[in-house]
Amino acid sequence: MAQARPLKDIIGALSSKTEPDIALVSAAYELSKEAHKEQKRFSGDPYFIHPAEVGYLLASYGLDAITVAAGLLHDTVEDAGLPAKTIEEKFGSDVLTIVQGVTKLGALRYQGVERHTESLRKLFAATAQDIRVLIVKLMDRLHNVRTLNHVPRPDKRKRIALETLEIYAPIADRLGMSVLKNELEDAAFPYAFQKEYEKTRELLKEKTRENEKRLEKTEHDLKRELADAGIRTFRTEARVKGIYSLFRKLERKKWDITSIYDIRALRIIFPTVADCYSALGVIHGHWRPVPGKIKDYIAFPKPNGYQSIHTTVYTGDGGALEIQLRTEAQHREAQYGIASHLTYKEVQENQERSGLGWVTQFLPKLTRASSTPALAGDTPTLKWVQELADGVGTAQSEEYLDTLKSDFFSHRIFIFTPKGDVIDMPIHATPIDFAYAIHSDIGDVMSGARVNGKMVSLDTPLHNGDLVEIITKPKGKPSQKWLSIAKTSLAKKQIKSALTSAQKKA
Ligand code: MN
Repeated sequence: MAQARPLKDIIGALSSKTEPDIALVSAAYELSKEAHKEQKRFSGDPYFIHPAEVGYLLASYGLDAITVAAGLLHDTVEDAGLPAKTIEEKFGSDVLTIVQGVTKLGALRYQGVERHTESLRKLFAATAQDIRVLIVKLMDRLHNVRTLNHVPRPDKRKRIALETLEIYAPIADRLGMSVLKNELEDAAFPYAFQKEYEKTRELLKEKTRENEKRLEKTEHDLKRELADAGIRTFRTEARVKGIYSLFRKLERKKWDITSIYDIRALRIIFPTVADCYSALGVIHGHWRPVPGKIKDYIAFPKPNGYQSIHTTVYTGDGGALEIQLRTEAQHREAQYGIASHLTYKEVQENQERSGLGWVTQFLPKLTRASSTPALAGDTPTLKWVQELADGVGTAQSEEYLDTLKSDFFSHRIFIFTPKGDVIDMPIHATPIDFAYAIHSDIGDVMSGARVNGKMVSLDTPLHNGDLVEIITKPKGKPSQKWLSIAKTSLAKKQIKSALTSAQKKA
C-alpha cells in the first residue's frame, strides 16, 4: 500500500523554515492525518496521501507556511467533518479562509457547455478573493488529475479531465504559471481525448529525433556566433512543447506537423533586455528568419505578463527552429507567474534537494539577480497583473500577500446577466459599458437599466456581483452624453460610430 509523503519532505521543501512556520505546518499535517484516518482513495490507499501531496506541491512551489497548512487541511472540513472552529482556533483565520474558499470552489460543477464554461471560469475567479485559494485549488486538481487512472468510471474521468483543460489550465495560464498549466494539460489530455492523444503521440515520436538533432546543431552554431559578436553571458535550454499544446496547434494547422517549428524550441536567457535585442541581430544576421514569425513580447507583453522575443529561423537543412530570447527575471516570471514573486530564491534551493521533476526541469540556475524593467507596451489587460507584479520586487513577502489578497481582483468586477452569464469589466464601469460589452446592437438601442432589480440612471457605477438587466427600445439611439459616461474604450468607440452614422443619415 502506498504511503503518504512524510512530513520531513514538506518541511524540507518549505521556503521559510522559521520555528513558528515549521510548527504550523507540522500541526496541520498531524491534524489532517488524524482527520482522514478512516478514509480511502479510489486506489484503496489512505486518503491522507492526497492532502499530504497537495501540501508538498505548494511548499515546493514556494508558497508560504499558511498556504501549505491550508493545503494540508483543504479537505478536512468537507470530507472529514472537522469543525471550522477547530481550524480557526488552531491555525488562525487565514488558514480557515483558504480552506473554506477551496471548499466553496469545489461546489461549482462543470456543465460541458462552452458558454457556461467561460462563465464558470470567471465566477471561479470572482469567488476566490484570496489568490492563495486559487493556487491551493490548482495544486489539488493537479494531484487529482495525476491520479485519474484510479477513478473507476470512464465518464467521470473524462469530466474531470475536460474540466481541467477548460477551467483550471486557463486559470493557471492567466496567473502566468506556465509550468503548472502544462502539467495540468498534459495529465488531463489522455483522459479527455484519448484518440487524439494517441495520434499526437505517434506523430511526435516520429518527429522528436529530427527536432533534437536540429536543435543541437543550431545551439552549437549559435553559441559560436554570439561569442564572436562579444556576447558571452547567457545560458541555453531546450523548451519542449507540452503534448496538449502541440495537439491544439496541430488542429489549427490541419494536422500538418511539418508546419510546426516549435516542437522543440531553443531558449536563450540573458542578463539584460539589451542583450536580447543584440542577440536577435546576430541571429537574423546568420540565419534567415521565417517571415511573420517574429514576435516581440518584450515590447508588447502578453496579457498575463509574459515577456520574451520569439523568432523562427531556417536552419539550412530544410527545416526551421523557434528561438526564444529573454532575461532571467522574465524567465522566472514566465515559469511561475504569480508564485514566482513569493520566494523564488528559496524555491531554487529546494529544487536541489527535492528532486521534484517538474519544478527542477524549469528552474533557473541564477548566476546573478537581475531585474529588468519592461521597455514599453503596456496594454490595459496586462496592467492589473503587471502593476501587481511590479510592486512586488521590492516588497516583503508578507506585504505582497496582502497586496494579492486585496488587489488581485479589485481592478476587475464581475457582472451577471439575467441569464447568469458573467461579464468581466473594469471597475467604475457603467450600465452603458455593460450593454456594449454584451453586444453593440444592445448598446445602441438601450433606454435604461435595472441593477439587482432596481431601475438606475445610466451613469451608475456597477459593483462586483451586480445582476444587470439592459432595457432597450426599438428606435433607441446613443446620445452625445453617453460618451462622457462610458468608461471602456469599446463602448466609446461604438457610441462614436453610431453617432457618426446617425449624422450621415440626417
Ligand atoms: Mn482535494
